[in-house]
Amino acid sequence: MMSYDASRWPPPGVTMDVPTIARTYDAILGGKDNFAVDREAAKIFTQYIPTARASAWDNRHALARGVRYLARTAGVDQFLDIGSGLPSRENTHEVAQAINPNARVIYVDNDPIVLAHGRAMLADNSSTTVVNADLRDPQGIINHPDVRNTLDLDRPVALMIIRLLMYFSDEDEPNRLIAELMEPLAPGSFLFITSWPDTGYPEQVKLSQACQEALGSGWARTLEETREHFLGMELVPPGLDYPQRWYPEEPDRAVPAVEDLKPYARTHVAAIARKA
Ligand code: SAM
Repeated sequence: MMSYDASRWPPPGVTMDVPTIARTYDAILGGKDNFAVDREAAKIFTQYIPTARASAWDNRHALARGVRYLARTAGVDQFLDIGSGLPSRENTHEVAQAINPNARVIYVDNDPIVLAHGRAMLADNSSTTVVNADLRDPQGIINHPDVRNTLDLDRPVALMIIRLLMYFSDEDEPNRLIAELMEPLAPGSFLFITSWPDTGYPEQVKLSQACQEALGSGWARTLEETREHFLGMELVPPGLDYPQRWYPEEPDRAVPAVEDLKPYARTHVAAIARKA
C-alpha cells in the first residue's frame, strides 16, 4: 500500500479549479471534503432540484440496506465497492463489519482525493483498503495487488457500483465493463447497482440536466436498459425499484405506491443480482 502523507495537501493529482464528481456529491450530501468549485457545482444541482440532498441520501440509505442484506442475509464477507466516493455516514465497511467484523472491503475510486481521505480514515483497519483505479479498466481493478491480496476470488464477492453508471455513456459500454468484472468472480457472487431511471419523471429529467451542466455527464437509462446492467442474472426480491420501496431483507414489507413517493424519491433505482 502507498504511504499516506497527511502533511501534503492537496494530495497529488487533486485539482482545485474543476469540480469533481466525488467532491460535488460530498457537497450535495452536506460533507466537508470539497472545495469552492465543487460547492458551486452542487448549487447547480439544487437550483434544478431543490431536494437534491434528499435524493442523494435516498441513494445512501439504499446503499446501507443493500450491504446489510449482502452481509447478513446472503452471508457475503467480501465487498468490491467501485466508485465508492468520499467517506460519509454508514460507509460500506462500517455497515458490513458491524454485522461481520471479518468482512473485507476494497474501495475503488478514480478520484485521488478519495484515496487520500480513505487511507487516512482506514489507517487502523486492516480489513479495508482503498485503491485508486478506474471502472473503465476492469482488468486493472481485478489484477490490482491490493485486490488480489485482500479478496479471495474463489469465494463469493459482492461487486457494488452505486450511483456511478450514469456518468458512463453508451459508448463507454458499461455492460461490457460490468461483465469483465463479474466474469472472474465465483458463483454465488452478487452485483449491487443503483442508478438513475429514465422514466420521463420531471425531477429525474432535471437531475440529469443539472449533472450535465455541472459536471459534463449524467444520463438516466430506461428501466429495461438498467436491468441489462445485470447481464441476465436473476434479481433478488424485490427486484429493481425506487429506494423507498426497496427492502431486500424484507421483500414482503408494505411499501408506498409509486404515485405516493415524493418527487426526489423517484430519482434512483436499486437492485441486487446473484451470479448462479
Ligand atoms: N458510491 C457512492 C455512493 O453512492 O454514495 C459514491 C457515488 S459518487 C456520485 C460517484 C463516485 O464514483 C465518485 O466518488 C467518483 O469519483 C467515482 N467515479 C467516477 N468515475 C469513475 C470511474 N471511471 N472509475 C472509478 N470511480 C469513478
